Amino acid sequence: MKNFAYVRAGSLAEAQQATTQPAAMLLAGGTTLVDLAKCGIAAPDMVVDISHLHGLDTIALDEQGISIGALARMSWVADDPGIRQHFPAISEALWQAASAQLRNLATICGNLMQRTRCPYFRDAAAFPACNKRAPGSGCAAIGGVTRNHAVLGTSSSCIATYPGDLAVALVAFDAEVDLGTRRIALDDFFLLPGATPQREHAIEPGEVITAVHVAASPAARRSTYLKVRDRQSYEFAAASAAVGLELAPDGRTIADIRVALGGIATKPWRARSVEQALKGKALTAEAVERAARAAVEGAVDHGDNRYKIDLAPRVIARAILNLGGLA
Ligand code: SF4
Repeated sequence: MKNFAYVRAGSLAEAQQATTQPAAMLLAGGTTLVDLAKCGIAAPDMVVDISHLHGLDTIALDEQGISIGALARMSWVADDPGIRQHFPAISEALWQAASAQLRNLATICGNLMQRTRCPYFRDAAAFPACNKRAPGSGCAAIGGVTRNHAVLGTSSSCIATYPGDLAVALVAFDAEVDLGTRRIALDDFFLLPGATPQREHAIEPGEVITAVHVAASPAARRSTYLKVRDRQSYEFAAASAAVGLELAPDGRTIADIRVALGGIATKPWRARSVEQALKGKALTAEAVERAARAAVEGAVDHGDNRYKIDLAPRVIARAILNLGGLA
């Protein structure tokens, strides 16, 4: 690990100022930054500690929705009674992420800034070609082992999967991220790789994540997060779905539905085609299974990851049918 200067930010303004310096990085819980620094991917000249900044770790719920402070720990948010009641998919996504030790330390802002687990990205010595780590160097994954790589949102430059769970649930419910001086939709905060996979987030120098906001809704209140993975804990998703469901007063017509996917795309993936196919329709197993297939239209596999194109619609359908009491 490269030596760096350690600076303890005295205020949010100091932290914002520090991010205008190219080789400075912010330290919150440290679970992402230290991990990346140890494998040589992150090499800051200066680490600016924001973990102690006052007022950024609160969780506030009212009838409009919820505001989650950037420095709230994953485990606090997962176990918050208001979130469990009004946004169960968010709580469930966090409980199925990482390990208990990591959840106790990792922050919400750090979770949103986590980087891909593509093994080629994380091992520069063995795999020099990686457009995300070294722009223009190529992509060692294309033509390599791709079992955990993405099938949606990919480009000829990068096929790395977005690894997180929390952001999938947040994107399903139109969450916004507060960058201090502006708010943007979380869906727009995560960038597609295109020709510039090294740029993953729509955050600019001088900006610091201060909070995430999610509006209350009947679909968020009746929601769930289903994660399918190779083992039952401390594992990334092979495919996951955050789903919210609101039924009309007749108890069978879908008034509102939200669907977002994890584990299969280069960013948290809102499946709007599935939502559009089901809104206003009767909730039946046949309709749900047919609509779920729309989620993977246009998917591109690289051989080893072809199974994800079959798996993702099944995960969506099971999550919706669980919520609707039809599973
Ligand atoms: Fe790098 Fe992306 Fe290729 Fe992985 S998939 S080696 S992160 S360019």
